[in-house]
Amino acid sequence: MQRFENAKEAALALRPDDPVYCFRPEVLKADCRQFMDMFPGKTAYAVKTNGENMVLKTLVEAGVTAFDAASPGEFAAVRAVSADAEMLYMHPVKAQSDIRLALEKYGIRVIALDHEDEITKLTRVVRALDIDPGTITVFVRIQTKGSAAYELSKKFGAGPAYAVELAERLNRNGYKVGLCFHVGSQIQDPDTYERALASADWVRNRVSFDIAGLDVGGGFPADYGSDPNSKKPEMPSIGQIMSRLRGDLKEYGFDEMPLVAEPGRVIVARAFSLIVRVLLRKGRRIYINDGIWASLSDSWTGKLALPARFIPDPAIRSRNGSEKNIVPFKVCGATCDSVDILSRPFWLPETIDTGDWIEIGHIGAYSLSLRTRFNGFYPDTFVEVTTPFEAGDAPEGLASMETMAAE
Ligand SMILES: *Cc1c(COP(=O)(O)O)cnc(C)c1O
Repeated sequence: MQRFENAKEAALALRPDDPVYCFRPEVLKADCRQFMDMFPGKTAYAVKTNGENMVLKTLVEAGVTAFDAASPGEFAAVRAVSADAEMLYMHPVKAQSDIRLALEKYGIRVIALDHEDEITKLTRVVRALDIDPGTITVFVRIQTKGSAAYELSKKFGAGPAYAVELAERLNRNGYKVGLCFHVGSQIQDPDTYERALASADWVRNRVSFDIAGLDVGGGFPADYGSDPNSKKPEMPSIGQIMSRLRGDLKEYGFDEMPLVAEPGRVIVARAFSLIVRVLLRKGRRIYINDGIWASLSDSWTGKLALPARFIPDPAIRSRNGSEKNIVPFKVCGATCDSVDILSRPFWLPETIDTGDWIEIGHIGAYSLSLRTRFNGFYPDTFVEVTTPFEAGDAPEGLASMETMAAE
């Protein structure tokens, strides 16, 4: 992989017409270690956030020994970087053949579920493979209510009373039983984890045995840069969220048992930025070489404001306006699909023109993992960058903001 100081240097050297992902392994390691230092338990990185080989490999180098993997593809991706990393199979709804693969081929012994039919599937596999259920920890996923950029609690989770039933049944069948929840992604309300802990506490107090551990899931917010026009309160920092969580864990008496977290976004968001090119400027509209079918679907559906830096093409000699004047541009994506228009503008210097580049920061989570080959476009160029996105000149703009429409 080619290495550059920063994205501007990469853009001016390569003059890329295709999108270029700028990978910052040192930032990834630092953010990962920061999380592991703050969380009082095991850190299992959620592979779906960004399962690139370079990411998983770097995380292993940073000291990650456990991964939350949800599918055969993710099991293989983890095994490709580590022969002995532990995998936690935390997807509540699974194909029986995938459960068998997890237990038989990958030696997975930690699994989550939220329904009795999943116990039936699991037990069929456990009996067929003649595994002692006492070697398996089953986490019962509890339904939670919260406020996150992505609410995932509507899709999965057992109500507290049903969770008690599932836990008792698992215990009778000889499994070790833990409790887990996942509050959604990019949580915005610091009370979110406490509400989930209160549900877990309710369940724990009603089961007839000691639970084997608690998994608090993911959802920890990445620090994306703030939208100066937003009236929303400032997002709590990861430090604030974590000290609150540690206090709450203690208060509910969960601090004496094995704890697990499954962070994704908070670990990998800052590790990548993306250089895109302006293929055409048409008034207050720009057509870029990426879009909702490639790297930009998450910032779009999650209403995230990503920081953006203008990289002017020095070959453009004459420009109109002032580089200091930051204005909204409607952004059209690379494909011929008319849906491929971002619902929110990018805020950029009014001087931007056909041929310039934009570096979009903090795009490591749910960007390249969600790209498609639609219309023949598939961004797949990577460079390594040594300087963190925040270093150097402050980014001038924002990619995607929810407060104003471009037109
Ligand atoms: C997606 C997911 C995660 C990671 O969520 P982040 O918000 O990226 O931290 C963790 N656990 C489960 C079960 C998930 O589905």
